[in-house]
Amino acid sequence: MLKIQNFINGELIQPNSGDYFDNSSPVTGKIYSQVSDSDETDIDNAVASAKEAFKTWSKLPKKERYDHIMRLATEIEAHFNEMVEAESKDNGKPEWLARAVDIPRASENFRFFATASLHFDSEIHEMDGKALNYTLRQPVGVVGCISPWNLPLYLLTWKIAPALAAGNTVVAKPSEVTPMTAFMFSEICKKINFPKGVINVVHGFGHKVGDALSKHPDVPIISFTGGTATGEKIAAVATPMFKKISLELGGKNPNIVFEDAEFNKSVDMAVKAAFSNQGQICLCGSRLFVQNSIYEKFRDSFVEKTKSLKVGNPKNDDSNLGAVVSKQHMEKILECIELAKSEGGEILTGGKRLILDGDLSGGYYIEPTIIENLSHSCRTNQEEIFGPVVSIIPFANESEVIEMANSTKYGLSASIFTKDVSKAHRVAAAIDSGIVWVNTWMLRDLRIPFGGMKSSGVGREGGFKSLEFFTEPKNVCIKI
Ligand code: NAD
Repeated sequence: MLKIQNFINGELIQPNSGDYFDNSSPVTGKIYSQVSDSDETDIDNAVASAKEAFKTWSKLPKKERYDHIMRLATEIEAHFNEMVEAESKDNGKPEWLARAVDIPRASENFRFFATASLHFDSEIHEMDGKALNYTLRQPVGVVGCISPWNLPLYLLTWKIAPALAAGNTVVAKPSEVTPMTAFMFSEICKKINFPKGVINVVHGFGHKVGDALSKHPDVPIISFTGGTATGEKIAAVATPMFKKISLELGGKNPNIVFEDAEFNKSVDMAVKAAFSNQGQICLCGSRLFVQNSIYEKFRDSFVEKTKSLKVGNPKNDDSNLGAVVSKQHMEKILECIELAKSEGGEILTGGKRLILDGDLSGGYYIEPTIIENLSHSCRTNQEEIFGPVVSIIPFANESEVIEMANSTKYGLSASIFTKDVSKAHRVAAAIDSGIVWVNTWMLRDLRIPFGGMKSSGVGREGGFKSLEFFTEPKNVCIKI
């Protein structure tokens, strides 16, 4: 069986322990590979290799780093179909989605940040002819990049690309739930002789390798995307060491539809926002607020459209949804649905596991689920579910919906649907979230500051914000 090995100092190697754990595909529930069960000694080796490589990589002219990074993008594109299939098999998402979003974004991340590094500049502060201050933006050192399973290669490269472009070297820790495309990426690095030690990938469990990376004294900077509870643990070990940290965490995002919204477009967008990637996107609109006067009509149309979604073989282009990522996660989602029922929620559609035919009968499929009749303050409407489950809630007016939307501990993203421009501006300004969309959802420009407020994160990544995070500003003052 295929063994997913670590990539350290340019070599694919087995973990020091010699141990592996099973990796199964949620599409079938069958084990198909084995993952390195690494420990802190593997992290020590990876960090040592990255530290050594930093001495040369950080000193390369920008254009040379750009050339190296662009080769990564080209090679991902050369392996496009294999990576699409692998991402779908490992994560359960439909292949069309990996083809349209995950893998193109992985190569785009490298192109985007390699190019951005050529345009990145810094400030000068002139002091009335007396002195001149200029700010150097220097790479920080070895970066720890820790990523989740929902957009495996997309989010891993979202970190690696700007970290490298800024002149740092990397030790990456992909999710143990979806390690395959990170492994394929390390094979690519080896194949193209990417400078040794600049990128290292260590597989394994979060509480072992993720923790060892977060507290390693030679890793001064951590970029993490994942759950809020994990972010808290990382902050607890990294903050007392005064590390730079960027935390992209969970969400419970409101999707607000006013009575004057374009009806059909907002229904379509609400379906997309709730169920894309089986509802496993941090930005998913999992709380759908609809104004009273259109509530029943909207709800019925939303339920009808949701019922027409097909949950099926991720290989088929007509499958709207594939499998959720793992048995454990499926069970968690089903428990959340039971909790919603016990809180008085009424299931308008879905609510159950689906058993597909043949080989797929052991896979982890859940019907897209809509819940009604819950207070905005109950657990179902406060806690992240991260599955194909949405709660629909009526509201009377602007102030009421703002209060309900802001009532969770999260603050990642929000969508507002209205034709009234002034209302859109007012509500956008009043919502506690790092990202607000008006009349759309998940329209991404890689240059914007991306990140969350409250328990959804610390810091912003994206565009020059990423390059700022992955560099240390140093002011030089020259007396004239
Ligand atoms: P998770 O927090 O369980 O795991 C994320 C990563 O952290 C994994 O690589 C894991 O091995 C590692 N990890 C676990 N324990 C650790 C520890 N003690 N120290 C260091 N690393 C540790 O998250 P997940 O279940 O993989 O992903 C789902 C979560 O990610 C959801 O909450 C979702 O909202 C969030 N997410 C956020 C964003 C964003 O941009 N804000 C994007 C995608 C996903």
